[in-house]
Amino acid sequence: MPYKRILLKLSGEALAGPRPYGTDLATLQGLASEIHEVQRLGVQIALVLGGGNIFRGLAASAKGMDRANADYIGMVATVMNCLAFQDALEKQGLETRVLTALEMKQVAEPYIRRRAIRHLEKGRVILLAGGTGNPFFTTDTAAALRALEIQAEVIMKGTKVDGIYSDDPETHPTAEFFPDVSHMDVLKRKLKVMDATAISLCMESRMPIHVFNVRTHGNILKVVRGESVGSLVTSRQE
Ligand code: UDP
Repeated sequence: MPYKRILLKLSGEALAGPRPYGTDLATLQGLASEIHEVQRLGVQIALVLGGGNIFRGLAASAKGMDRANADYIGMVATVMNCLAFQDALEKQGLETRVLTALEMKQVAEPYIRRRAIRHLEKGRVILLAGGTGNPFFTTDTAAALRALEIQAEVIMKGTKVDGIYSDDPETHPTAEFFPDVSHMDVLKRKLKVMDATAISLCMESRMPIHVFNVRTHGNILKVVRGESVGSLVTSRQE
């Protein structure tokens, strides 16, 4: 097994499934069953969930809302997603904990790094909510930050396409597929993997990012097993 501890980043969109807004329970159940299969292999799993299926700070600020305030609403949205996904994971019989960067003690533990690691060691799936806890950041940056803190071996980023392309393959069918790229390539060519803050953080600490299509059932397990699915960002070529 190539990975023992992973950080899986799922966007809010991945949780919405076919819906334009909110969470789709059948989609959550499907993802939870895949995570259960991975956990059964003894892999330690930390999840960072986005909030874009409920609220995006940048979009609201473009319409006139104060950016920091809008971003806090976005962070609360990620907590909602984590609570919904926790329920789906528990239906699978998994032990879970939600740890949040925004204090919300009635529903989740505060994020404490050592506690997060301890939960992983005990086989609990952890859901890291509230992003970084700071406005002007994204959950991709939270994923990079937390992966480094908990010493995950890889960030697995589930997207709606098969990996990294020169352009959006849904609108540009001739876009080139890149199975292997460096962090620097992603930055220089502005490839749509994660935002520049997240990529820079990963580049500095040589954190690999495995980008794959999360809409294809079974892909999470394939990536963990080291099968050739999706694209890999590494610092090999730097
Ligand atoms: N957000 C934030 N700080 C963070 C993480 C998230 O302010 O550290 C806010 C921001 O407004 C963002 C929203 O939460 O638009 C939802 O997160 P994101 O857009 O990263 O979700 P995704 O695109 O992955 O669904």
